Amino acid sequence: MSTKTSTLMTWHKDKRVDDGIMRHPADSMACNFILSMLIPGPNGPGDAIDTYLQPLIEELKELWEVGIETYDASARKNFKLHVSLLWTINDFPAYVNLSGWSTKGKLACPCCNKNTSSTRLTNGKKQCYMGHRRYLPHNHKWRNDKKSFDGTEERRLSPHMRSGIEILNQVRDLEGLQLSKDSKKRKKISHENRNDNWNKKIIFFELPYWKSLLLRHNLDVMHIEKNTCDNIMGTIMNVKVKTKDTI
Ligand SMILES: [Zn+2]
Repeated sequence: MSTKTSTLMTWHKDKRVDDGIMRHPADSMACNFILSMLIPGPNGPGDAIDTYLQPLIEELKELWEVGIETYDASARKNFKLHVSLLWTINDFPAYVNLSGWSTKGKLACPCCNKNTSSTRLTNGKKQCYMGHRRYLPHNHKWRNDKKSFDGTEERRLSPHMRSGIEILNQVRDLEGLQLSKDSKKRKKISHENRNDNWNKKIIFFELPYWKSLLLRHNLDVMHIEKNTCDNIMGTIMNVKVKTKDTI
């Protein structure tokens, strides 16, 4: 870790004024500042990535439990540094490999979990994810606005955010499942029977603090911005193949 990073860390702990005003990412409930990158190619391990993450998880466990002797340049002395993994940052396709929640089908949203709101389009045959008025305040006027939306009023509350402990409970029975890209070796998980979209219990749960984290998996803004922009442009410019305005 660089001197700059350690000074920044201690500054936020000792000097930052906690007055409820948001001025810096460090004022939020969770903030992020260290990144390392991993980009698997087309022959990447998919769900079996957990096998390759084993050495990393071992090292992270040691860094959390035992810690490592580190020099603090601002205080000019050694101290025992303990390290925790805050979360993963990934695009939507990689979300399934890192979180274990399948991002396909009618329950594609990992946050809405079993309460994902979806409809299969009669003509397009695609799954689409509507019902976002659920997130509005209960008395918001758009909730009653049938005409501008899909002809319905929205009365449902937003789904609650699942804690790590709840998720651990949902994946309990997937412990020790053989992870492989090879369809002959892989045990096929029927999501119909499970009533959820879990493919596996991820290796990150071996970290003692993983179930207590506020955020575990985050989507990177870059891909979403690009895809959203592509879809809007493709639709308003009526670009062949790219437009979403189909029958
Ligand atoms: Zn959702």
